[in-house]
Parts: sequence; C-alpha cells; structure tokens
Amino acid sequence: MANRDKAANQMEEFKRAQGSPDQMTTGTGCPVGNKTASKTVGQRGPILLEDFVFEDEMAHFNRERIPERVVHAKGAGAFGYFECTHDVTKYTKLKPFEYIGKKTPLAVRFSTVGGESGSADTARDPRGFAVKFYTEEGNWDLVGNNTPIFFIRDPFLFPSFIHTQKRNPQTHLKDADMFWDFISLRPETTHQVSFLFSDRGTPDGYRRMNGYGSHTFKLVNNENKPVYCKFHWKCDQGIKNLMADEAGELSGSDPDYAMRDLYNAIAEGNYPSWSLKLQVMTYDEAERFRWNPFDLTKVWPQGEFPLIPVGRMVLNRNPKNYFAEVEQIAFSPAHLIPGVEASPDKMLQGRLFSYSDTHRHRLGSNYLQIPVNCPYNARLRNYQRDGPQCVNDNQGGAPNYFPNSFSGPEDNKKFLEHMDNLKDGQVGRYNTADDDNFTQVGTFFNKVLTAAERERLTENIAGHLKGAQEFIQKRTVGNFAKADPVYGRMIQEKLDNYKKKSQRSGGMAQL
Ligand code: NDP
Repeated sequence: MANRDKAANQMEEFKRAQGSPDQMTTGTGCPVGNKTASKTVGQRGPILLEDFVFEDEMAHFNRERIPERVVHAKGAGAFGYFECTHDVTKYTKLKPFEYIGKKTPLAVRFSTVGGESGSADTARDPRGFAVKFYTEEGNWDLVGNNTPIFFIRDPFLFPSFIHTQKRNPQTHLKDADMFWDFISLRPETTHQVSFLFSDRGTPDGYRRMNGYGSHTFKLVNNENKPVYCKFHWKCDQGIKNLMADEAGELSGSDPDYAMRDLYNAIAEGNYPSWSLKLQVMTYDEAERFRWNPFDLTKVWPQGEFPLIPVGRMVLNRNPKNYFAEVEQIAFSPAHLIPGVEASPDKMLQGRLFSYSDTHRHRLGSNYLQIPVNCPYNARLRNYQRDGPQCVNDNQGGAPNYFPNSFSGPEDNKKFLEHMDNLKDGQVGRYNTADDDNFTQVGTFFNKVLTAAERERLTENIAGHLKGAQEFIQKRTVGNFAKADPVYGRMIQEKLDNYKKKSQRSGGMAQL
C-alpha cells in the first residue's frame, strides 16, 4: 500500500477498524437474507411487489440528492476548536472569547463559489470560508470568504451578479460577455475583480489562504457598549497560491485537489490553523471615516485600524461522513449570539435573510435539528414545534405557547440586543453606484502588489476579457484605468497583443 495517501486508503482503514462485517438490515432494521437477487416468479420471471428489501433500497436511492447550493456548491469540511489566546472582553461578551485558554468546538466549510458541486477546486473564484462555533449561548456562524471585500455593496444585485458568473441561459456555457458586461456596468466590482484575477484568485488548496468575516459587524461588551468590527483569519501555514497555468492544469488532472489536500493533512495529524484578529472602529470613528464603514467593497486600512489578536482555530478532525456533516451543514450570517450583532452593512442585511431562507428550501424547515447544525452546547428550549422531518423529541410535553402559567421557557432582558440610534431616517432606494469605487483599487495596484504581481494580474484579466465583445472590453478597461491609468494601459496592451495574434491566425486564437 505504499504511495497511497490517507484519502486513497480510507476504505482500507475502515475495514481495519470495523473488523468483521455486521449483519445487513433494511431501513426498518429487519435482517436481510440476500442482497444480490430480487424476488422473482421463477428463474426468469418478473419481480414481486412484495420485495420490500429491493423497494426500500431503490426508493431511498431515488431520493439521495438534495438541491445543491445555488452558490458555494463545491466544498470541503473539517472540525476542530477555537482557543482564545488574548483578552478582548473590553469589546465583546462573545462566549468563545470569554477568557484566555477557553476552547470552543467548531466546524468549517471551505468552498468555491460559482461552480457546480462537481466542478474543479482550483478554478479562479473567491473561496468560501465559513466557521460555525458551537457555544453555550447557541451556534455562531462567521460566514466569510478568503477576501475582505465583495463585488457589490447592495444585495439587490446579487442574483443578477451570480447569474453572470454562472452559465448562459441558452448555451449553458460560461459566457465572457455576461461576465464582463455586468462587471463593467457596476464599477464597484473593480476592487474585488482585482483580487480575483491576482495570484490570490487561485489559492494552493484551502490550507494556505486567509479568511475574512468580510462584513462590518457590531461587537457588544458586558456593559452593553458597542463597537464596529471586522474579523480576519490569518493563515498560520503561510499564504501560497497557484500560478494560472498550474491551476488550469490541476482542474483537469485533479479537480478535487483542495479537498484531498485538506483531508490528507488532517488525517496525517498535520493540523492546519488560523489566527483570529479583529479590527475595531468606534461609533465616533465610523461617523468620521472617509468611506462608508459598512460598504462591503472596501477594507478598513490596517494602519488606521490595527489587527488585534484574539485566538487560534485548529482543524483536527475530518468529517466521518461527507453528506451528513458537510453537504448538510448550514451556515447563516443570521446565526449570531450575544456579543456580536449585525451592522447596517446592506450586503450583510441581505444575507441575514437569504442564507436561512435557502437552507429551509434545501434541507427543510427543521434544518437546525440535523446533528451538524444542532446547537449541541446550548440547551435549546422554545415554542417551535412540528414540521417535516422533526427528528428529536419535539420538546415533549412542554407548553407550546407563550406566555403560559406552566413553566415553559422564559425570556430574559439581559439577552436583549444593543439598541441603536440610526440617524439616516428617510426611507428610499439610494443609488450607491458611485461611492468611490477606485481609490482603494489604486492603492492595491500601486502599493500592495509587486511589479511581477501586477504583470500577472493584468495578464489574467486580459486573458479572460479577450473573450468579451470590444465595447465591453473598452468599458472594462476604462474602469481599471480610473483606479490607475497604468493599470488600464497594461490590460489594453495585452488585449491588443491577443487581437494581433488572433488576426494573424485568422480568428482562431479568439478563445
Ligand atoms: P496594508 O499595507 O496595511 O495592508 C495591505 C494588505 O494587503 C496586507 O495586509 C495583506 O492582507 C494584503 N495583501 C498583501 N499582498 C496581497 C496580494 N498579493 N493580494 C491581495 N492582498 C494582498 O494597507 P491597507 O490596509 O491600507 O490596505 C491597502 C490595500 O490593500 C487595500 O486598499 C486593499 O486593496 C488591500 N487589502 C487590505 C486589507 C485590509 O484589511 N486592510 C486586506 C487585504 C487587502 P492580509 O494580511 O489580510 O493578507
């Protein structure tokens, strides 16, 4: 068995742990006498309707698939713990940060965004980075990405944006016109598109990338004092990316590269870890900040809002069963606990609704009863009852209405959310399309990237943008040029080269 990694040897390891096989049963637990022949009338006759052993299996097989996630369909999961290493109680009463040394169990799911559940792990795409803390005050999900920002700042645009990153409605092919048309018509995408086409757009597996809560959240401490915050997971393995050609090659030769890498690392005891840091902004600072602090297309400069260490996440257990623990895990930014609350970030507000909504569709209204989603460290008591696939005791004989006189669970003012005073009182639909889309992109291009990284970024953009029509190319280059004229020029030069090459080869080099 030399040269076989832990993932390849999973079946062998199961056999070793299992010893001799158990007696097989039907779904009702009835022992099965024969699993290779259906019950027929004679050797060549038809199958009898009474063959429940066959029907039980076939009917269940017919229902094996649940709808895949509309986004983040391809992913890998793992389990571990968070350990608090620094005191941040002056900012938050969050249970996992209660005292130094406290450990909280957690689950993580990493994913790509646009591809289907069988798509390649190494595609150029943001990576989902979702963490579920199982705390004594309920499950807290920090559902972020491997980038601190996002393409858009208003969730109303999200379904359209995702449609353009997926498939053409007629051809069912990826479509460069759709992709770049939307991007160029919504210039707030320029920042995230610059991250996407940089080296970080193709991370070398899930273990070698940072994670970010991305949104602005509100932290509340034991004195009910609030601050705004952003969460950063810094990768302790060090950031490592794939070059575009390596990523392309791997998407054919090993489409499950990132999943395999994570599984094997954990199975070999080489546990990956990330250090959690906070950026904190006071309400006064938020008032004075030169950008909207709730705009998901922007970062908070680290020089002004330095990273504050909190603790470390370690992943030390692989899923025991992929479907049960990864396909069915359901994260939602609305799964908050005392000490962390939503901010006015419009994208966050939209996600607070949409994540739980999609899980109710995908997994059913009792999705929180599924073991991997169940808040097993808290004592769950409420007035929710019944519904499809209710698989626990449905809270037995406890009263199912409130208020009541019969010792049903009660609320407690100490868990009230922090009360905010919002000044922008006029209700309306505000146009945010021109909220400074380019300053931070210019900083990224000029100050963060090296010359070689700028070269690769502009090559990666041109190599994809060349598939779109010229009027779309022109509008797109115009946006990058607004961030920095050099940025626009470098892309245009590379597009011109592609065009020349295509003309020389009679148009065949177009794609
Ligand atoms: P800093 O110099 O303090 O931070 C720059 C950050 O850029 C680094 O900390 C690092 O974030 C990230 N970075 C470094 N190399 C790359 C790369 N090749 N691709 C993507 N990100 C990289 O400056 P500011 O905080 O003022 O930010 C300057 C610009 O950096 C921003 O406009 C934004 O475009 C980008 N940026 C900022 C981040 C932030 O939270 N402030 C985070 C990521 C990027 P990290 O340590 O998280 O990897």
